[in-house]
Amino acid sequence: MVDSTSSSPPWWAAGLPFSCSQCGKCCEARGDVAHVYVGRADQERLASHLGLSLQVFRKRYTRFEPGGYLGLRFEKGSCIFLDGKSCSVHEAKPVQCRTWPFWPELLESPETYRKEVLEFCPGSQAETPIVPPESIADQALATDEAIQD
Ligand code: SF4
Ligand code: SF4
Repeated sequence: MVDSTSSSPPWWAAGLPFSCSQCGKCCEARGDVAHVYVGRADQERLASHLGLSLQVFRKRYTRFEPGGYLGLRFEKGSCIFLDGKSCSVHEAKPVQCRTWPFWPELLESPETYRKEVLEFCPGSQAETPIVPPESIADQALATDEAIQD
């Protein structure tokens, strides 16, 4: 988690470069990592977008993840909603997909961020525009809140 009670500034206090190039890589499984959590509001938004009841949406597109959270299903190594390199539910996609890579667990340390983000995401490289720290903090908080709802 991002520690909002800490008095020392986070390592990303000067902002971080990021601009998604829509390569679709973060919608694919990476080894054992294949989790897209969907909170209640995510589920309702996606179900409505697809014209489905909540029950049908859950049955067709979700699965239980460790810890009892609900997540999107993966098929053939990719999120069930990945269509080529594009998200087929872009307008209604989960908060987690909107806020990546500014998740609390990825921001924990520069080492974690390098390993989990910089090593494979072309949108996070140094030449991309800087996202200000206020926005990073807001997105980290939104990620936590969306999963807990
Ligand atoms: S890996 Fe990075 S650049 Fe590619 S789609 Fe994901 S966020 Fe965008
Ligand atoms: S919902 Fe869309 S953006 Fe999120 S992982 Fe699936 S394909 Fe990618």
